[in-house]
Amino acid sequence: QAKKLGKGNWCMFTDELDEKARARQQVETDLHRALDNQELRVFFQPVVDAETLEVSGFETLLRWEHPTRGLVYPGEFIEHAEDIGLITRIGDWVIRAAMAEARRLPDHIGISVNISPLQIHSQSLVPTIMQAIAANNIAPERLELEITESVLMSDTEFTLQRLHQIKKIGVRIALDDFGTGFSSLSYLRSFPFDKIKIDKSFISDLESRADNRAIAIATLELARSLGMSCTAEGVETGYQSDFLRENGCDNLQGFFISRAQPLDKLGHLVELKDSDAAQVAPAPRPKL
Ligand code: C2E
Ligand code: MG
Ligand code: MG
Ligand code: MG
Repeated sequence: QAKKLGKGNWCMFTDELDEKARARQQVETDLHRALDNQELRVFFQPVVDAETLEVSGFETLLRWEHPTRGLVYPGEFIEHAEDIGLITRIGDWVIRAAMAEARRLPDHIGISVNISPLQIHSQSLVPTIMQAIAANNIAPERLELEITESVLMSDTEFTLQRLHQIKKIGVRIALDDFGTGFSSLSYLRSFPFDKIKIDKSFISDLESRADNRAIAIATLELARSLGMSCTAEGVETGYQSDFLRENGCDNLQGFFISRAQPLDKLGHLVELKDSDAAQVAPAPRPKL
């Protein structure tokens, strides 16, 4: 009897709790721990020159090595991190981690980092970038920030100012997921983009959809005539790669080339310099 009552009470209690709030609190606790326990990882997806198919850069993609859930993808936690005000700390960490790893890449290889709209407003963004590139001896031109159209929709004056501030350092800016937001073409003339990334939703069905082919060609032409370079993301097939190359796309990225991986697994694509750990490792004892 008492047991039954207890159970009933518990059910009532949980019913009254907002499930969403509970889940959110769990992720919040988890994410704080992830930062403190260094469970976050940066993976890198190669971007190739469409003409030569040689690797020209890497996009940094965040992963969470969760102790029980395994590898967790950003789609499952970035929004939570934004909601609970942790995205700035995480985003700053990603910039520092990406630049520390970029030390091991050849000097001609670029590296891009995704930036949440909330980070644009953070006081720490510009100092973090400057500190991270200086500490790792990375030429600013090698770093590119990827922002989405949603950044441009609010507080336009501030965003414009911030992007110019970043450009002044020498860091480049790419418009990510082009065509998926509520974009207005006027953004393309107002903001200082170096590159447009065609969203993968326009690339995935290139072989079967004439409308996607038309959109891809128009976007490539638009980028070209505005003096911006163009990267296609989500390239998964030979047909897509050939189509984009024939139509003058500058860079390709997608599973057809490679998935995102830890830097150590990319040695077959680019020559990696020794890690600092290896450099400071004690010299082997001389044989007597
Ligand atoms: P994104 O910046 O558009 O990144 C491309 C996404 O497409 C990545 O997913 C990548 O793994 C995936 N992808 C690449 N090639 C292919 C392909 O050929 N086919 C398919 N189906 N997918 C492909 P991922 O790593 O899950 O990241 C998802 C999104 O999370 C990213 O989209 C980006 O908006 C966000 N994100 C990732 N890392 C960070 C970060 O450090 N900070 C912030 N704020 N957002 C991040
Ligand atoms: Mg991106
Ligand atoms: Mg994208
Ligand atoms: Mg995206």
